[in-house]
Amino acid sequence: MDVAEIQGLTVRYGRFTALESFTAVVPGGCVGLLGPNGAGKSTFIRTLLGFVQPAAGRGTVLGHEVGRDDLAIRRAVGYMPEQDCHIPGLSAVQYVALAGELGGLSKAQAVRRAHEVLEYCGLGEARYRMVETYSTGMKQRIKLAQALVHGPRLLLLDEPTNGLDPIGREEMLQLVRSISHEKNVNVLVSSHLLPDIERTCDEAIVLFQGRLRAQGRIDDLKRVEGAPYEIELREASGAFVRCAAEEGLQVLGAEHAVYRLRGDGAPEDTVARAFRAARSAGVQVRRAVPAVRSLEDAFLEAISG
Ligand code: ADP
Repeated sequence: MDVAEIQGLTVRYGRFTALESFTAVVPGGCVGLLGPNGAGKSTFIRTLLGFVQPAAGRGTVLGHEVGRDDLAIRRAVGYMPEQDCHIPGLSAVQYVALAGELGGLSKAQAVRRAHEVLEYCGLGEARYRMVETYSTGMKQRIKLAQALVHGPRLLLLDEPTNGLDPIGREEMLQLVRSISHEKNVNVLVSSHLLPDIERTCDEAIVLFQGRLRAQGRIDDLKRVEGAPYEIELREASGAFVRCAAEEGLQVLGAEHAVYRLRGDGAPEDTVARAFRAARSAGVQVRRAVPAVRSLEDAFLEAISG
């Protein structure tokens, strides 16, 4: 089931347009919201929650209308903001239980759930400590705990790995993956870090300068149009490039002795022509495999479009 549908969303801060005619469907599962800093990711998440009023457009979150059913949305959604959001003077249990009560739980339920989610987020032993004494990694995890406490159907995580060292980052990514893949909570996670999205998500929405640039399953985003092949030769060969062109192949790229070629026919035909080109050029083919681009290539291509 899709968790959010957005049509023609435009958000302005004064005269600055942070999101422009943004139309997207956020499917269930673990979805990455990917874009460089300033792309509009936080603005999008905050608009879904009703914290920012759009200048135009509309949308629904879990079937609730953005801007009209904001309280229903906030009840059904867990939100981990980018900035610290703890309340000084409260222990972790008190703080997370308060978030649970604000999310609609009874006091007793909220306290029970607070213990559970703190344990789950790896803060079990530190749960009676004041949150302001926490390390950055622990503060990130308590933000996740307060977002989870009321058992939301959708989690909106804004840059959850911000400020974390490699170990903390790894732990956070594993938690996010486990929440979505084992606990079956839908997750929309924003990041400017491609590897984070690639490791945790099945699908990505690419935002750049307030506009949607690409959306799809990560496997599909990485697949190159037109079924190109990567041909590795024994050694780099200018003659091969010429012969490949004569065979009607387009040389998309070359790195050392690895050439990325695209034909206009079936994949077998591209490979056969590449072998003929190699024979004509007098070089040996070591390997011929379908080309897969990195998510980074896909991302760069999306934002340069
Ligand atoms: P991201 O989360 O992708 O880094 P943001 O949504 O935070 O992007 O910001 C998008 C753009 O909107 C940025 O250029 C930012 O400076 C601007 N912006 C964000 N919040 C405000 C605000 N409250 N007032 C004015 N400009 C803002």
